[in-house]
Amino acid sequence: ALKRKLSNDFGVENGVSGSDDTGVKVIVRVRPTSKNEEEGEVIVQKTSGDSLTILGQPFTFDSVADATSTQVDIFNLVGAPLVENCLAGFNSSVFAYGQTGSGKTYTVWGPANALLENELSSDQQGLTPRVFERLFARISEEQNKHADKQLIYQCRCSFLEIYNEQITDLLDPAQRNLQIREDTKTGVYVENLTEESVCSIKNVTQLLKKGLSNRRTGATSINMESSRSHSVFTCVVESRCKSMDGLSSLKTSRINLVDLAGSERQKLTGAAGERLKEAGNINRSLSQLGNLINILAEVSQSGKQRHIPYRDSKLTFLLQESLGGNAKLAMVCAVSPAQSCKSETLSTLRFAQRAKAIKNKAVVNEQ
Ligand code: ADP
Repeated sequence: ALKRKLSNDFGVENGVSGSDDTGVKVIVRVRPTSKNEEEGEVIVQKTSGDSLTILGQPFTFDSVADATSTQVDIFNLVGAPLVENCLAGFNSSVFAYGQTGSGKTYTVWGPANALLENELSSDQQGLTPRVFERLFARISEEQNKHADKQLIYQCRCSFLEIYNEQITDLLDPAQRNLQIREDTKTGVYVENLTEESVCSIKNVTQLLKKGLSNRRTGATSINMESSRSHSVFTCVVESRCKSMDGLSSLKTSRINLVDLAGSERQKLTGAAGERLKEAGNINRSLSQLGNLINILAEVSQSGKQRHIPYRDSKLTFLLQESLGGNAKLAMVCAVSPAQSCKSETLSTLRFAQRAKAIKNKAVVNEQ
């Protein structure tokens, strides 16, 4: 049977994910201006390490990363704590939220085209390759440090896309419309999803490339490049160690790296048939995420229990353990600095503020 221990019982050191250990860590990343935006159009200003203003209106988060921030800075803020949390036995996730073109993909994977064409410079590498580089280095370190305990680690990765409320296996795109199942032993999982064992950064990069090349983007008359799918890269990390009495104990934790669909309001002009249905369904997963964030924030503040409708969308059902459940969660909310994106930026900042109010109860999975 699955035994769950509270983090405090387990003696996990405080401060692994910052001083507010049970909350959702919220980082806002402001991307540089793009070619067709003028410097004069910039309306978002970082005012300190954790604050910014938009047209003079102040907002505070856990951290603000501005246009000068590097991929290493983002790794240090969310990637390194994620690896430590995972090794301590916590399910750990990073979500990238924001409108299309705000820098979600750049943050989570690195610039996708360069990655696919093997033209990625090392400083452009996104969060995912950096997380796995650190994870494998830390696993070796742990094994050397506790050589007497015979620590064995196994890492298995999967990569899926939720598009139009249907789950596709990005490592085997012939597998479409996969179903989410739940049982008491494994928790929530996707039936028939490919899982590949990985033991090096090279293995992970190959899976990333394979999956990203299978991602689809929908083209409408409004926004040709709009990313309408949610993509979820998951790694299950299992560790076994022999104890004094010769029995081996098992610790399991999951890492989820999630690149959400663009959060912009779906304008339905010009969309018909499948596209119209798709717009509704994408709104379903994202608006359900927004609803859950509101409910969880309210529950955290009032302390009152209430039903949490995780199953109302594929995204929230699949990631229910990352949302207000057994998990450490970080959100990178990506925004553009430009005047032309003002209303979407404000909406992302408000979403980020609500997420900040959630308190998760992270526990270690141990058998
Ligand atoms: P999204 O995934 O939110 O749609 P992208 O990650 O594709 O957005 O970013 C849009 C464009 O901006 C891409 O060309 C990307 O390379 C560039 N970009 C985004 N963030 C940064 C950044 N922090 N530094 C440099 N270029 C960036």
